[in-house]
Amino acid sequence: MSLKLIPINKRTHYSAIESISTFLASLIFPAFLFAQDSLSVLVYHHVSNVTPLSTSISPEVFRSHLQFMKDNGITVIDLEVAVLELQKGIDLPEKAVAITFDDGYESIYSNAWPILKEFSAPFSIFISTDPINTNQKGYVTWDQIREMHSQGVNIGNHTSDHTYLVQKLQNESTLDWRIRVQKSIQKGHFDLTQKLGIEPRLFAYPYGEFNQELKSMVNSFDYIAVGQHSGAIGSHSDWLALPRFPMGGIYSKISTAKIKFTAKAMPVIDIEQWSPIVSTQNPDAQLIFDNLINAQVGLNAKSVTCFFDGEEMEKTTLADDEYTYLSIKPLNKSARRRWNYTCTAPSNRSRYFWLSLPFVFLD
Ligand SMILES: [Zn+2]
Repeated sequence: MSLKLIPINKRTHYSAIESISTFLASLIFPAFLFAQDSLSVLVYHHVSNVTPLSTSISPEVFRSHLQFMKDNGITVIDLEVAVLELQKGIDLPEKAVAITFDDGYESIYSNAWPILKEFSAPFSIFISTDPINTNQKGYVTWDQIREMHSQGVNIGNHTSDHTYLVQKLQNESTLDWRIRVQKSIQKGHFDLTQKLGIEPRLFAYPYGEFNQELKSMVNSFDYIAVGQHSGAIGSHSDWLALPRFPMGGIYSKISTAKIKFTAKAMPVIDIEQWSPIVSTQNPDAQLIFDNLINAQVGLNAKSVTCFFDGEEMEKTTLADDEYTYLSIKPLNKSARRRWNYTCTAPSNRSRYFWLSLPFVFLD
C-alpha cells in the first residue's frame, strides 16, 4: 500500500519535458506542488485526575495546553473546517491545532468543556454510541451531547460498539467480517443522525486501527477519518487515515506536547513496502521524497531520523536528481500488537517535520 499522493507509475514515467514544466510551474506557483500548510490534531480521552493514567490528562495540565497555544500564536481550529480548507487549497493559520476527544467520557463535559469555552476553542468528540444508549457510567449522556452540539461542538462517529475493526473473529468469513464492520459504522452514524439530526462528516477508527478495506467502507460514507498515529497533516495527506497526536499519560506533559502543537507535515510523496496490517513484527519501509518539494519546504532528507520503541532505526539514503529514497529498518522486533515508526526532521524556528507509520500485527 502507498499513500495516495503522486502515483508511483506517474512518478517513474515523468518525461524530461514534464520535469522541466513542473520545475517552471514551481517557480511561478511556489505552492503548486506541496503547500506548506500544516495542522496538528490532538487526541484526548479523559480530562480528569481520577481516570486511567495512560488515557488521561489532568484539568490543570489541559488548561496549560490551551494557555500555551494562546500565548504562542497557535490557532485552535475545528478539524472538519481545517480539513475542508486544506482540501480546497485555502491557507490555514501558520500554526494550527485541532482538538479532538475519543469515546465520549463524562469528564469532557464536566472538566474539559468549561476550559475550552474559556479559551473559545472549537473541538470535536468522537462518540461510540452503544455506551451512551445504555447510559453507561462514566460517559456523557445524549442530553449533554445535544447541549454541546447546540453550542458548536462537532460530533463524529467512532462506531457503535468500539471493536478492533481490522480483526476478524475466529472462523469469521471475509463477507461476515465486512457485514459486521459495516453495521458497526452504520449504527454509529444512524444513532448520531437520529439523536442530533446531523449527518456526521468525521470518523475515528477505534484504537486507530485501519486497513485498505476499512478505508473504502469509511469513504462510502464520505467521511474524513482519523487514526491515532502521530504526525502533522498537510494539503496532500490521506483524508481517510489522518494522523493525530495522542495527549494522554506521559504524552500530556507540556514540555513534549508543545513540540507537537507546531509540527509540520513531512513532505513524503510515497511510502513503499508499507501496509498498516503486517504479518511480521519488524517490517522495513521506504519513504520517498521529491527533491524539489524538499527544497521548497526546507527539508534536508538526510536529517530525517526514525525511531521505534525509543531507539533510532537503521537508515539508508539513496538519491538521484529528482528523488530521495530513505529506507528504514528496526533494530528489534516489536513485542506488541500495535506500534508506530516515528520519523522527524528539524524545520525552521524550532519546528519539526513529523510523520509516523502505524502497524498492527495480525498473525
Ligand atoms: Zn476509542
